Amino acid sequence: MTVLVINSGSSSLKYAVVKPDTGEFLADGIVERIGEGPIADHDAALRAAFDALAAEGLHLDELGLVAVGHRVVHGGQTFYRPTVIDDALVAKLEELSPLAPLHNPPALLGIQVARKLLPELPHIAVFDTAFFHDLPEAASTYAIDHDLAQQWKIRRYGFHGTSHEYVSRQAAEFLGKPHDSLNQIVLHLGNGASASALSGGRPVDTSMGLTPMEGLVMGTRSGDVDPGVIMYLWRTAGMSVEEIETLLNRRSGVLGVGGQNDFRKLHELIESGDQNAQLAYDVYIHRLRKYVGAYLAVLGRADVISFTAGVGENDAAVRRDALSGLTGLGIEIDEGLNAERSKQARRISTPDSPVTVLVVPTNEELAIARSCADVVTS
Ligand code: ADP
Repeated sequence: MTVLVINSGSSSLKYAVVKPDTGEFLADGIVERIGEGPIADHDAALRAAFDALAAEGLHLDELGLVAVGHRVVHGGQTFYRPTVIDDALVAKLEELSPLAPLHNPPALLGIQVARKLLPELPHIAVFDTAFFHDLPEAASTYAIDHDLAQQWKIRRYGFHGTSHEYVSRQAAEFLGKPHDSLNQIVLHLGNGASASALSGGRPVDTSMGLTPMEGLVMGTRSGDVDPGVIMYLWRTAGMSVEEIETLLNRRSGVLGVGGQNDFRKLHELIESGDQNAQLAYDVYIHRLRKYVGAYLAVLGRADVISFTAGVGENDAAVRRDALSGLTGLGIEIDEGLNAERSKQARRISTPDSPVTVLVVPTNEELAIARSCADVVTS
């Protein structure tokens, strides 16, 4: 039994052929620069992915595919369980697109072309918001006019849920403890970045909100800003809504302050004495520490803090600087363990640290494939 997992973005399409039972990846890859050159659109991108699979000797009709799993960023209030896609669901997802204008439309394009090219298989949507569907109201509610918020479905939805759930379960497995017995903080630090706090296996807070723009400083997104900044840019700087959206999504974060959103290159700039790069790093770390502190207070006590995704799994300096000097809060990193490189889940706190700190590689494709397998076998 295998599942084809598709993560369709505006300019790239990621794919993986996964055996959900064993976690084995038969293949995975990415088709980039959609809309430029030979890859004119998402249809061409998916065909290119199939060609790449065929070139590896993987033919779709011989793989034992049972489903195609699609990552969908925003499920709104309605969708949180993995859901079999039909025309009615596509129509409802189109209605949700204004909630996630940068993310849901390209996912829908991926769904449309995949349903066309693989019509005989069930297609299943797995939502990035799903894990946070039951956030406590105190955490999910914005302190704005209640009726207006209800009318427009304005709440904190949270994103990267597939990753937060997967990593928190892996952390529990690593510790040999039941998932629902632990208080956890998960720091998903990739190009997008988000933090979550879990109590008894359920999320009680997360840093992203109505959109994936809130919270931590990210590669190219600002994270938290005073909403007054937006009005000021509009009214006084004369920027349009579209310009402000592009600014906050694509020209902000570590890139906006430091000129580089790849942390490997950011460190090189810092080493060469670049002051803006240093400032970007400092702002990033400052925000991260604030969220760790906030979530410790939300939880009262944490058993484990896990780092995951591109930066969290690979950048030892970020991990050290995010949690240094917190022995008073029960957190003590072992510099030697933290500096070791590995693809496995591993502990980086000292044996005596009351809070265990882990690095846990995320695997959203596997989590999506498992969700799909659950749907088709149930
Ligand atoms: P996405 O959000 O696109 O899925 P990833 O989780 O793959 O992102 O993270 C990508 C980011 O991870 C890169 O932009 C880079 O900043 C960072 N990264 C990847 N490898 C390393 C590394 N070896 N050291 C530091 N940062 C890294």
